[in-house]
Amino acid sequence: MGQNLVTEEKVFGELKKAVVETLRADENKIKPETSLIKDLGAESLDFLDINYRLEQAFGIKMARHFVLEHIEEMYGEGTALDENGQLTDKAVAVLKIRFGENVAELKPGMDMDEIPALVTAQSMVSGVMDILDSLPEKCTKCGASSWKSEDGVKVKCGSCGEAAEYSNGDDLIKAWLTKVQEEKKLF
Ligand SMILES: [Zn+2]
Repeated sequence: MGQNLVTEEKVFGELKKAVVETLRADENKIKPETSLIKDLGAESLDFLDINYRLEQAFGIKMARHFVLEHIEEMYGEGTALDENGQLTDKAVAVLKIRFGENVAELKPGMDMDEIPALVTAQSMVSGVMDILDSLPEKCTKCGASSWKSEDGVKVKCGSCGEAAEYSNGDDLIKAWLTKVQEEKKLF
């Protein structure tokens, strides 16, 4: 179910906080289109830190693996990346469905190492929103459907107080890929 207890603005605010704390970046420089790597100098370890802060804030589990890794795991080695570690046509097709046609840099033959630079503040916010949208209709502990949030970040059961239980990011990517595959039969 789509939940509306946590707004996209609030998620963006928490992301900014996490980025400022991790990278000591100037908050005013963080816009939706900001690339964490290209514009703010983030390195791969910084993403672990940022993800961890978001996980703590919202009580979620972010994806540990990128879409391309899931494609290779689900549809076989070589389906997303060729022997030189470059994107296949199919990988580009999937990434465009996920991140939008306007990611101009995305093209077949692109090196996998260039992908992280495409991660923007907005794509991280969308990743969090996807997870928050997995909030079940009913509390898994008491069965009530009365989710509440006092701070607009953490969601709790209004009846028994149990913290919301979301699907984890990797499971959601796998489910999404399965749906894309059913519709598009790419692999
Ligand atoms: Zn409950």
